[in-house]
Amino acid sequence: MSRVWDFFGGFRLTFRHLSRPRVTRGYPEEKRPKQPRQHGRHVLNRYEDGMEKCIGCELCAGVCPAKCIYVRGLDNPPDHPVSPGERYGYVYEINYLRCIHCDLCVEACPTQAITESKLFEFSFTNRADAIYQKSQLLVDDQGFPQRMPWEDWREGEAAMTGGWMRATSPAGDASFEGLVQWSGELGVGVRVPEAGQGDSRDDAATGTKALRVEFAKHFDPDQREDRRGGPKK
Ligand code: SF4
Ligand code: SF4
Repeated sequence: MSRVWDFFGGFRLTFRHLSRPRVTRGYPEEKRPKQPRQHGRHVLNRYEDGMEKCIGCELCAGVCPAKCIYVRGLDNPPDHPVSPGERYGYVYEINYLRCIHCDLCVEACPTQAITESKLFEFSFTNRADAIYQKSQLLVDDQGFPQRMPWEDWREGEAAMTGGWMRATSPAGDASFEGLVQWSGELGVGVRVPEAGQGDSRDDAATGTKALRVEFAKHFDPDQREDRRGGPKK
């Protein structure tokens, strides 16, 4: 008899969760909102006048721990310069078979040329597609990321590229919170800063969704311990 009870007792947890809010999503049809500082596929930015921000200094390539960036700089043609600097990024490649999306390249860049979108759903069927060229990484004439056929872009993933760069500039000094220390971008203008770690962060202004609100119920200690089968307080 006790075996019968043990059998049905095993369903107790299932039935208890039937009336609780569903935490799973129908991925990939339905994606969760992305975090403001999500590290995704890179973009090469341009100034508001259309000039490229990259000056071909190779600092991003030097700092990359995965050695997946290849840059070659070239002197700007005097008659039709590509960037405002002496040089510009003539060749720029990122090998996404190696990239670990650490964003060290973003932090090293002196001109905010390289930043990251929130897209991480992109997969390839050959090596050539995985090595993005400058022509693919450079933002389009409206200032937004170009979209490759194998990339799964959704709403908001092209917004606020480089949230991480804005959050950590410069060196994470709290006294610089809220100060704009970056240049405008083509089609977007000067991006608004994040408001640090406090509750005053403006998700609407930074183009992000309040994911922490959505996750709040999962941070509740009572629910967390219950899901793990541990003692409730
Ligand atoms: S995100 Fe990290 S691993 Fe990827 S290219 Fe930048 S520095 Fe390299
Ligand atoms: S992306 Fe930035 S760090 Fe890399 S070569 Fe261009 S200017 Fe230098």
